[in-house]
Amino acid sequence: ILYYKEFAIMEKNELIKLNEEAKKQYDELCKQGLKLDMSRGKPSPAQLDLSLDMLTHCLDGDYMSETGVDCRNYGVLDGIEEAKRLCMPMLGVAHDEIIIGGNSSLQLMYDTMARAMLLGVLGGDKPWGKNEKVKFLCPAPGYDRHFAICQSLGIEMITVPYTPDGPDMDVVEKLVSEDELIKGIWCVPMYSNPEGITCSDETVKRFANLSPKAKDFRIFWDNAYCVHHLTDTPDTLLNLLEEAKKTGKQNMVFMFASTSKISFPGGGLAFIGASAENIKFIKSQMTFQTIGYDKLNQLRHARFFKDFDGIKEHMKKHRAIIEPKFKIVLDMLDKEIAPTGFGSWHKPNGGYFISFNGLDGTAKRTVELCKQAGVVLTGAGATYPYGKDPHDNNIRIAPTYPTEAELAKAMEVFCVAVKIAATESLLK
Ligand code: PLP
Repeated sequence: ILYYKEFAIMEKNELIKLNEEAKKQYDELCKQGLKLDMSRGKPSPAQLDLSLDMLTHCLDGDYMSETGVDCRNYGVLDGIEEAKRLCMPMLGVAHDEIIIGGNSSLQLMYDTMARAMLLGVLGGDKPWGKNEKVKFLCPAPGYDRHFAICQSLGIEMITVPYTPDGPDMDVVEKLVSEDELIKGIWCVPMYSNPEGITCSDETVKRFANLSPKAKDFRIFWDNAYCVHHLTDTPDTLLNLLEEAKKTGKQNMVFMFASTSKISFPGGGLAFIGASAENIKFIKSQMTFQTIGYDKLNQLRHARFFKDFDGIKEHMKKHRAIIEPKFKIVLDMLDKEIAPTGFGSWHKPNGGYFISFNGLDGTAKRTVELCKQAGVVLTGAGATYPYGKDPHDNNIRIAPTYPTEAELAKAMEVFCVAVKIAATESLLK
């Protein structure tokens, strides 16, 4: 559902009145000495408690995997059987199409990118980094840390707009077919960070059928929110690898996910899925990086969740905790902002964020006002490559970490800040 109302034509004196009222409310809120954080998509302590048994009861002195691997010791680069079985359905891949990595999918993505830059990918005639320049397509608004990876490795980012069906594939198809230096694209295909958009079937098929000029092009498919539903009628996503097999382009696909927001962020399992050929190639490079990842953690996860159904059941418990928080944010926006027309937003069916689009030129000011009142938001612009939001209007709201009472207070501040920023800008 898209809530959007064209800015209702207000008389100047009406705007002045609104501005004065909002400022008065803001001054009162500032006096309260608030210290609230809505900046990062972190699970709350109550969500982390859901997985506590994993730390206390899952090993109980039995460190042997089902195939007899002593998980305390070195070895098994791609992961133990039961961990693979647990994670395979999340990406929709087979046994030889997955590597269970360490505790962070971001690290897996960084490493994958760094190896491509330094050593190259399967089928490439040289490392990406040996080109005069490397470019990457970045659908935006998007995940700031994806963009930070590119920036840190000196990869030039090209912003691609979003549509309600996912990244604008007309733009993607055109760009990749023209420029050999474009080596890949980021995509969060389900409940995207921050827009909450899921790629339509057609978008996935078009991804699977891309014809890049670069023969060593890769789609970085970060399916971080593949089981993070917030409704009884969740979005569905076609399996990119399967679609790419139909077009014979399966080696173009790297898929990632983790249990960071299922079990513990920083203490979960991250994994990469790709064609069997790609996985074999990645393992041949990875073998110099590590002898093997943390198999004790793999064992703990496999025993705690048992199977994919176990993960799905567990995610219902997360939903019970976070759905009311999303509702608080949406209700506040509906009540306070919708009647003014000072912004638009989506009600996401899953994921971790609500993406707020204010009037052009007001995001920085809104974030600054919130900060001065003790409410920390993700920096304005962070959702765009180089931190530059061309319209300065997008703000990512992360409702999961604060308590419901804190969130209600933080949203009170947010809505007042939006009103001040909007009226200031319209009165300029
Ligand atoms: N990918 C996306 C789209 C995210 O939003 C996040 C965390 O916010 C991550 C990856 C980080 O995942 P991990 O904890 O597995 O590194």
